Amino acid sequence: MGDHVLIAGSGLGGLTAALRLAKRGYKVEMVEKSNKPGGRLNQIKKDGFTFDMGPTFFSMTYEFDEFIKDTGIDKPFHFREMDILYAVDFRGSDRKFFIYKDLDKLAQQFEDIEPNFKEKMDRFLKSSGKFFNDVEYKVLKRNYNNIWDYLLALATVPPKYLPRLWQTVWDEMEKYFESREAKEIFSLVAFFLGATPFDTPAIYSILSYTELVHDGYHNVEGGMYKIVEGLMKEIEKKNITVHYNTEIVDYQEKNGKIEALIDQNGKRWNADIYLINSDAAYFRGKVFKRVEFSEEKLDKMQWTLAPLTLYLGIDKKIDDVPLHNYFLGNNFEEYSKNVFKNSITFEKPYYYVNVVSRSDPGSAPEGMDSIFVLCPVPDLRFKPDWSDRDEIVNTILTDLSERMHIDLHKHVVSQTVLTPKDWAKAFNLYKGSGLGLGHSLKQTAGLRPKNFDEKYKNVYYTGASTIPGTGLPMAVISSKLVVERITKNHGLLHN
Ligand SMILES: Cc1cc2nc3c(=O)[nH]c(=O)nc-3n(C[C@H](O)[C@H](O)[C@H](O)COP(=O)(O)OP(=O)(O)OC[C@H]3O[C@@H](n4cnc5c(N)ncnc54)[C@H](O)[C@@H]3O)c2cc1C
Repeated sequence: MGDHVLIAGSGLGGLTAALRLAKRGYKVEMVEKSNKPGGRLNQIKKDGFTFDMGPTFFSMTYEFDEFIKDTGIDKPFHFREMDILYAVDFRGSDRKFFIYKDLDKLAQQFEDIEPNFKEKMDRFLKSSGKFFNDVEYKVLKRNYNNIWDYLLALATVPPKYLPRLWQTVWDEMEKYFESREAKEIFSLVAFFLGATPFDTPAIYSILSYTELVHDGYHNVEGGMYKIVEGLMKEIEKKNITVHYNTEIVDYQEKNGKIEALIDQNGKRWNADIYLINSDAAYFRGKVFKRVEFSEEKLDKMQWTLAPLTLYLGIDKKIDDVPLHNYFLGNNFEEYSKNVFKNSITFEKPYYYVNVVSRSDPGSAPEGMDSIFVLCPVPDLRFKPDWSDRDEIVNTILTDLSERMHIDLHKHVVSQTVLTPKDWAKAFNLYKGSGLGLGHSLKQTAGLRPKNFDEKYKNVYYTGASTIPGTGLPMAVISSKLVVERITKNHGLLHN
């Protein structure tokens, strides 16, 4: 087998895999559907404002450090740790909760509503920290060849953790906290996985440990797209070509291998090995036409929340609003359980707001602010029609105006809106699901779509819908795992 790898997709999973493979001596070439690299980790520039298009922060920076070390490149971006991780605002209350990593500062926020908060939080974090350390390498960061491999891995995890498989993040909150505010705020981690605390297994409360103890939250100096720009410089140095506006839509096979991937213009792309960074479940259905991933089957899977995103340029500075903010209502359980199925209205929406220019003043003209709003909404399975887009946007702007004490209807000078339809079209995200395949028990670790193809020996997958899961650090781990698999199967050319 030769050493020529074609990567379909230039998201974070694709870009980091490209550099890992190049370091190991593979000859890498990339094709990308869009006209620029980065996938969901992207940027919008408009009317003098700059916005992060999708991701605005992340945890587990050490996964990027591992990648830098593995590829031997100079770190091409600078991370900034956030002091206030995020603020939470409940509708109808003037009080804001500020979430800090510092446990004493955090406890001050809750001491009047949650007796012995510090002690309870300490117990919760110690328990999730212990669990994280017990599963990080045994279950999370490893390849699985088959179901038996997965079951054997699970058998190495202490049995005391078993209930966390069927309990939810919300059950975990109820074990430690009494106040609704503490329970709701610390269960928001489930939304970072694109689901709700009521349908996310309790095992994922490890994210509370990574956010509040292990690593905190970080963003990037100059905006998140600096990650992509930095990686692209390294990609160029390695003479890796990325062919844009090239979407793989078909394939040609021979003797159990892929002989060529075929783009929308009928051009054949030949290589020895094919690495798919397009959604691992969707691609198997759409391009390889696998019955296990037909539309009917995909529709039955659990998909993460779909985003309705707003990119707003404001002609003045907004005071007293930190970088990251969650604006919640007063019917958390009802809203969470119904919003993704489109069985609740958007009259009183829940959403996330990032004041981009707070950490990167250059992203807005002098005296102005740039704001990103992400409202989790049903995907196209449940809400295919977005003709009411402007009405929903208007409701969000009115609600946000009241809560930020500024009339946004008067002060917005630049506005871009992306619905799940736009997200689906831009990056081939299944029915507009923003974070890819969900993380229910049936779709966790060894039960997610594999990072190697079931049928073709020279096809592999990297990215959010294969192992280990969604989010930027996971995409970086995903490239590590698939490159380990490729080098094991096809040989380490050099290091
Ligand atoms: C609104 C939003 C906010 C988010 N916020 C955060 C956050 O704050 N922190 C965090 O850690 N994560 C966040 N995420 C998740 C994070 O963006 C993703 O988990 C991560 O970027 C996924 O990277 P990837 O490599 O798997 O895929 P992608 O970024 O989707 O890249 C795949 C690439 O493949 C291309 N492609 C698709 N199909 C084809 C084809 N057939 N042929 C050729 N090319 C193709 C696509 O155009 C795309 O460029 C957010 C996601 C969204 C949508």
